[in-house]
Amino acid sequence: MNHIAENLNQIRAEIAEACIRAGRQPEEVKLIAVSKTKPAPDVKAAIDAGQTRFGENYVQELTEKWNNHELATPNIEWHFIGHLQSNKAKFIAEKISLVHTVDKASLAVELSKHAAKPGRTIPVLLEVNISGEDSKYGLRPADVMREADAVMRVPNVELKGLMTIASPEREKVKTQFHAMQKLLAELHQHFGAGITELSMGMSGDFDLAIESGATYIRIGTAIFGARSFNI
Ligand SMILES: *Cc1c(COP(=O)(O)O)cnc(C)c1O
Repeated sequence: MNHIAENLNQIRAEIAEACIRAGRQPEEVKLIAVSKTKPAPDVKAAIDAGQTRFGENYVQELTEKWNNHELATPNIEWHFIGHLQSNKAKFIAEKISLVHTVDKASLAVELSKHAAKPGRTIPVLLEVNISGEDSKYGLRPADVMREADAVMRVPNVELKGLMTIASPEREKVKTQFHAMQKLLAELHQHFGAGITELSMGMSGDFDLAIESGATYIRIGTAIFGARSFNI
């Protein structure tokens, strides 16, 4: 077995353990393999090991990967998890499975324009800056309800839930993930049954994310190894 397949098995086992500890079913937690900066053969190794969901941060890298015939498999899902500029929305609208990083309603409007033509509805999450760090993108928690309300009115876009990146300091992470869980519950109560997804947890903190109800976890380093430059 290559190291990517081994790492995937290890992560799957850790997800299952975290689910048991949290009293959740492992099927409730969907693993996204974050393949940014990693070459196509690494993605292929993960596909061969049964991985179907991949996360990318850059529009150009994403389009290169989905145009690569060697990676074309019927049930593959590509998730956009990087900061998305409005003028790039058109490049991903036709194929993306879920955009995790909508941080203003105007971006949803832009996605909508380009989803209408191929007759798609694009599932999206609102990105929340739960740690309040200046370096992070995302909505302030206090603005989430208002922005969600605006996104709910945009055609060809379907709001599914929330996404966040927690602080690097592990002792703060638990509180932040908990706050996200609460925010999602409020949104669910307000806007109804379609709001169910919570995208949070990376290589260093996915156990805590599962504890707080994450439905998508986004793991790069623990599957593919360290990236040569940090982004
Ligand atoms: C890079 C990245 C990840 C993966 O981080 P790791 O620590 O390598 O697991 C997850 N989410 C987002 C938004 C990222 O940019």
